[in-house]
Amino acid sequence: MEQYDVIIIGAGPAGLNAALYSARAGLKTLVLEKMFAGGQAATTSEVDNFIGTGKIGGAELCMRMEKQAKSFGAEIKYEDVTSLDSAKKEVSTKKNTYGAKAIILAMGASPRKLGIDGEEKYRGRGVSYCATCDGGFFKDKTACVIGGGDTAAEDALYLSNICKKVYIIHRRDKFRAASSITEKLYKNEKIEIVLNTVPEKISGGGTVENLTVKNVKTGEKTDILTDAVFVAVGNIPSSSLAVGTLKTDENGYIIVDKNMRTSEKNIYAAGDVCQKTLRQIITACADGAVAATSAAGDIME
Ligand code: NAP
Repeated sequence: MEQYDVIIIGAGPAGLNAALYSARAGLKTLVLEKMFAGGQAATTSEVDNFIGTGKIGGAELCMRMEKQAKSFGAEIKYEDVTSLDSAKKEVSTKKNTYGAKAIILAMGASPRKLGIDGEEKYRGRGVSYCATCDGGFFKDKTACVIGGGDTAAEDALYLSNICKKVYIIHRRDKFRAASSITEKLYKNEKIEIVLNTVPEKISGGGTVENLTVKNVKTGEKTDILTDAVFVAVGNIPSSSLAVGTLKTDENGYIIVDKNMRTSEKNIYAAGDVCQKTLRQIITACADGAVAATSAAGDIME
């Protein structure tokens, strides 16, 4: 079994920055990633609040992070972790088992589903959870974005550059998104804002053709003719490796102390998978730095 000082699960901003700090501290560091470096941040069209870079595409920012982590000697393997033995500090993938002195969990989170009729049936046929990945398929077409947070608002703005018409449908009368982004929504002529409204049913033929929505104040139902439904209603933590062995909150987020230590010795967590108040690229990176520094200190002790 191959041995490392530190194994990091997940190559999003938290995992990559943990890798940079760990490798830079002279520790033999492995990052295991099941999909692609950057995680959800890599699918963000534009990042304008990561200080020092100016406006930058999410994919570009994450590519730079990966390159920088590797430049310090961190190794990245694209393998899907299937189990974690937090007592023995062993991580198994479909191909291998690796041992470590410390493990940092940075698995992030994945998009929450709406759970409405037609969502599963039309997934990949008009229903999408990633505007930057799939928006290009809907050039000069109509799209609906569901949600009122930063992701939904950014998705609507992104899609307005591609589609002829974009609806943003939010269940309350006030957006959760930052006011700087919300203001842009109101100023964009291609975007129609539909408040106090929830989606009820996605229908069509071979692909999405219609979204039925309900006004929560009046109960009135309306059909919106649309080619796409982009779902941006928040995330659920990718914490299945930790649930049952580490302390998690009622929503499955891993509970950490201020040094990113979990309830198990030499197991740390960083980024969106943790219980925390602010989930941003910059806070994920900061978590990664703290987790790796704690791991380095604990290993040396
Ligand atoms: P979020 O902030 O949790 O917002 C989710 C939105 O979906 C909320 O408006 C929520 O409504 C709505 N919602 C939840 N469940 C719903 C349902 N079943 N049906 C209809 N609507 C539903 O999620 P997010 O926008 O993905 O953002 C996640 C985190 O990433 C946040 O901390 C955000 O600040 C951060 N982020 C930051 C940036 C940036 O700074 N550039 C970009 C993207 C994301 P309510 O408002 O009524 O709860």
